[in-house]
Amino acid sequence: MLVSGTGFCQNKDAYESMRNRMVDDQIAGRGISDQATLQAMRKVPRHLFVQVSYLSEAYSDRPLPIGYNQTISQPCVVAYMTELSKPAKGKIALEIGTGSGYQAAVLAEIVDTVYSIEIVPELAKEAAARLKKLGYQNIITKYGDGYEGWPGHSPFDIIIVTAAADHIPQPLKDQLADGGRLVMPVGNPAAVQELILLTKKKGRITEQRLEPVRFVPLKRLKQ
Ligand code: SAH
Repeated sequence: MLVSGTGFCQNKDAYESMRNRMVDDQIAGRGISDQATLQAMRKVPRHLFVQVSYLSEAYSDRPLPIGYNQTISQPCVVAYMTELSKPAKGKIALEIGTGSGYQAAVLAEIVDTVYSIEIVPELAKEAAARLKKLGYQNIITKYGDGYEGWPGHSPFDIIIVTAAADHIPQPLKDQLADGGRLVMPVGNPAAVQELILLTKKKGRITEQRLEPVRFVPLKRLKQ
């Protein structure tokens, strides 16, 4: 007898259809076309990166609080920054602002290794545990001030900064590989910023100003 909806026939990920709808409506529907990015967004279980009290909102079209006055970005912003960074197999990425670990996980589905730095010790610890539990062996996290980058693992093909400042830290520009791409919200950290894309070719840096965005401020550890 064939009984549907039980055993191996059961939908193993009850959130899968919500996630696919999120990608169709909020991401592909708004013009993101990079297949690797779309696939990664369809795969990473965003509901496991939000607080339990926001579980039902995990796939909604907005940022969500993750504690300590920080947020997990809106899905389409994560997708846009990921696509802009041109992720591909063989690349090494650096993320500043691990937060929940979601952006790192999306990148890690595509690139070889993601290094990610978080300045709030509790968030750094929680994200490291979450990413380990989910089996992301190619994400290396640490607690610290990402302003200085991670010189020991540079240069990076991709640098994504998920917190805003009024300028792009020079150490991050220095740690960008030739042919590399850096994406960061730049502007007034207390208001609206512009997403900036830096590209480095033969040592020369070119800057492109893209969409208006709103991110939490890039903090500094006491100097
Ligand atoms: N990328 C995250 C969202 C990050 S919100 C995600 O996918 O969930 C921005 C994060 O940047 C916050 O967690 C904040 O604590 C962190 N942050 C702010 N300034 C920082 C700095 N100088 N170095 C590292 N992390 C920083």
